[in-house]
Amino acid sequence: MTIYQGPVFDMARQQFQVIADYLDIAHDQRERLLYPKRAITVSVPIHRDDGTTEVFQGYRVQHHLSLGPTKGGTRFAKSVDIGEVAALAIWMSWKCALAGLPYGGAKGGVTVDPASLSLRELEALSRRYMQEMIPFVGPHTDVMAPDMGTNEQVMAWFMDTYSVYRGETVTEIVTGKPVATGGTVGRREATGRGVVHLAMRAAESIDLNPSGASAIVQGFGNVGSVTATELALRGVKVIGVSDHTACLYDSAGLDVAKLNAHVAKHGTLAGFSTEAAFDPHALLTQKCDILVPAAMERVIDGGVASQLQCRILAEGANGPTTPDADLVLAERQEIFVVPDILCNAGGVVVSYFEWVQDLQQLFWEESEVNARLAQILDRAFTQVTTRAHRDNVSQRTAAMAIGVEKVAAAKEKRGLFP
Ligand code: NAD
Repeated sequence: MTIYQGPVFDMARQQFQVIADYLDIAHDQRERLLYPKRAITVSVPIHRDDGTTEVFQGYRVQHHLSLGPTKGGTRFAKSVDIGEVAALAIWMSWKCALAGLPYGGAKGGVTVDPASLSLRELEALSRRYMQEMIPFVGPHTDVMAPDMGTNEQVMAWFMDTYSVYRGETVTEIVTGKPVATGGTVGRREATGRGVVHLAMRAAESIDLNPSGASAIVQGFGNVGSVTATELALRGVKVIGVSDHTACLYDSAGLDVAKLNAHVAKHGTLAGFSTEAAFDPHALLTQKCDILVPAAMERVIDGGVASQLQCRILAEGANGPTTPDADLVLAERQEIFVVPDILCNAGGVVVSYFEWVQDLQQLFWEESEVNARLAQILDRAFTQVTTRAHRDNVSQRTAAMAIGVEKVAAAKEKRGLFP
């Protein structure tokens, strides 16, 4: 019996079993590798604008501390529960290890629809959540970052709340902060930039010329909007985009600069165009060269996978593809999958740069951030594709195996206390 339940956790567990079998990990070591070190559950009360008091449930899961502090985003969404947060923390562990970062994985969140909160209520929720977490986080214990439903502003409130408690400014307690408060240049764009960098590596591998290629991007938040922008900069025609309010498709290509301007003004894609309005359930299976899910988990199941018409599946979101879909993709073979823990690693890589810069109080130019990011992603891409080829396994299996192996080796060498 475990507190970690639900479809997203089941997915992380199923994926881990595949890797554990492939790596032939001893059965008595498997639970030690999979189950999180700690899970924290808090009640987060706030005053609503109408004078009432409302309590939200908040979580933080720290997967392992074998390689250094834990690191991971904070999600404000209705879907958040302990199982989802634990799965995301586990994926963060494999992701950080694959990228060679000195972190274990963590994730946190609050079960709330952030769109239902005023700005004042969002600030109250953010500050109270961080305040409840103070005993369990720290620059060398657990470092938070943004995820769905949170952003630079929320990170600035987290940092301020922690700093007020400590009586000194502690910028290194969170990453993904505004540059004005100790953030790094290039962090906001890092995840989408990394997705596109790796999609271009994939394109090279299959001899696809980006100029004139087509792309569909699901989700138009931090990751999706930067991905669409960077794709357009490389001459890729973005023919479909969606968010939770609207879905747009135009085979002649959408104007990404106008989409960004609309979202900057109105907050979502709603109201952008009636002519390009499209069925959101059919978006992922339209013909395109590059497909980027950049919103929710489990949007590509076995049924969707069998209908995909893309050549590259670049997973911007965490966990967009179910284990059933992986089986279908393994059969089909013609789709080049850049798995999530590799594809969206740009975010945590530049978060790591931000943490290092904050600890040293020595700040880098954006060109240095981007060059070092590309270097780390290229190394991981080469390791994953080489391993997949060598062992005739999927790129997801190769990527996760590299991550799991590193965590397992650290645990083995450190030993089990006492
Ligand atoms: P965000 O909150 O900035 O944006 C999420 C987007 O998804 C919004 O546009 C929202 O409208 C859209 N969305 C929600 N439900 C949808 C639906 N049913 N259909 C279509 N669109 C929908 O979040 P984000 O930071 O861009 O994160 C997106 C994904 O990327 C998540 O899976 C997150 O875990 C992952 N990720 C984010 C980062 C990062 O640095 N922000 C890093 C790695 C991975």
